[in-house]
Amino acid sequence: MCIFCKIVNNEIPSNPVMENDNFIAFHDLNPKAPVHVLVIPKVHVESFNDVSAEMMAGMTTFIQDVAEHVGIKASGYRVITNVGENGGQEVKHLHFHVLGGARLKWGHFSDADPKDFL
Ligand code: 5GP
Ligand code: ZN
Repeated sequence: MCIFCKIVNNEIPSNPVMENDNFIAFHDLNPKAPVHVLVIPKVHVESFNDVSAEMMAGMTTFIQDVAEHVGIKASGYRVITNVGENGGQEVKHLHFHVLGGARLKWGHFSDADPKDFL
C-alpha cells in the first residue's frame, strides 16, 4: 500500500486540514511555503494521467474549500500536481500541492534551455 493510502487509512499520522467522503487535505511534511497543503483522493489514483473528469469536478470544489479554510483564497495561491518522471512526482498517489501564505516565486523549472526546443 502506498504512503498516502496509509495516511487515508490512519496507518501513519498526518496533520489533517479537511476531509469529505472522497478527498482529504493535510499539511506537507516538508513545507515549501508558509502554507503547503496536499490534497488527495481517498481512493488510489496514480497520477493526473489517470484521474477522471468526474473526480476532478469534486476535487476542484474541495481545493477551493481548502484554500478558504486555510485563509489563502483571497490573497492567492498556487495549485501544482507533479506527473511522472519529468514532472518530478515522488509519491505515486495523485496529489495537488496547494501553496500560499506569501508571495510565491516563479521557478527555475529545468536546466534545459527552452530556446533549444523552439
Ligand atoms: P511530489 O514530489 O510527489 O509531487 O510530492 C510529494 C510530497 O509529499 C512532498 O512535498 C513531500 O514533502 C510530501 N510527503 C512525502 N511523504 C509524506 C508524509 O509521510 N507525510 C506528509 N504529510 N507529506 C509527505
Ligand atoms: Zn495510494
